[in-house]
Amino acid sequence: MTYNVEELFQRQIHAWPQLAKGLEGLAQAKTRSVRIDWFDIFIRHIPHRMASTTAPVDRESVAKRPCFLCAGNLPPEEEGLQFDDNFTIYCNPFPIVDRHLTIAHREHGSQRIANQFGNMLDLAAGLEGYFIVYNGPECGASAPDHMHFQAGSRSLFPIEKDTAGMTRLTVPNYARNVFLFRDRDRSALIDRMDRAIDLLAETTSKRPEPMVNIAVFHARGEWVTYLFPRGKHRPQVFHTGELTVSPASIDLCGIFVVPKAEHFERITGDAIAAIFREVTLSDDRFREVAAKLESER
Ligand SMILES: [Zn+2]
Repeated sequence: MTYNVEELFQRQIHAWPQLAKGLEGLAQAKTRSVRIDWFDIFIRHIPHRMASTTAPVDRESVAKRPCFLCAGNLPPEEEGLQFDDNFTIYCNPFPIVDRHLTIAHREHGSQRIANQFGNMLDLAAGLEGYFIVYNGPECGASAPDHMHFQAGSRSLFPIEKDTAGMTRLTVPNYARNVFLFRDRDRSALIDRMDRAIDLLAETTSKRPEPMVNIAVFHARGEWVTYLFPRGKHRPQVFHTGELTVSPASIDLCGIFVVPKAEHFERITGDAIAAIFREVTLSDDRFREVAAKLESER
């Protein structure tokens, strides 16, 4: 499967000018790392992410635009690779990471993780060397009206290194609150995830789905899942215009996207840590859910 994705990229680089332009933009992207506490964050200046970072995702704005994930609306040059009966893999023309993919459901229907987490695990197992991410409809998905995942190469995936060897449910002193699930058993992992999401929905009174970002990868027979419960969508600095940043899964995994050059130069590790704390679930609610999950293990 990974081999076929590589071939898809090679064909699409030549056939689809928008993708070639995006890859050139990524090749020119500046990255610098900052140390926060015991871990590093890679800050990446990617001007072509401006539209995604600032995309209006309210119901009205979304309803007004043609869906860019529906097969009938794709540019004629864009080619997909069928993953299974439901999901098709595409090259993302606005990449943040190497081999950035968009994986879209064949039907136009709401972004929702319920009953889709198993598909996410299958994608992770099928795409070794990649991470798969899910952004909730109110915290990072620029197409909240069309079920999709993203994926990218793990050649740079800081959270994997940060959490290597960790087997506990939570990651201490990590600036962002995240649940870590490792499992070799697909159905057991789905059950644990469903339970965590249900508890988050309960504690945040947010139904049908609590605000979450999710990242998964599969290696050495094991799935590693990161569940980021959110407290809010965008940080205050976004609304004041101080920093044009809007973190979603990839940012929370340690690759922090900054589309504006002046903001890229100016942003500090402390500012990023504060943004992470602000947008992920508060410590008291996080601990409450963690305690329940631990007691059920
Ligand atoms: Zn659609």
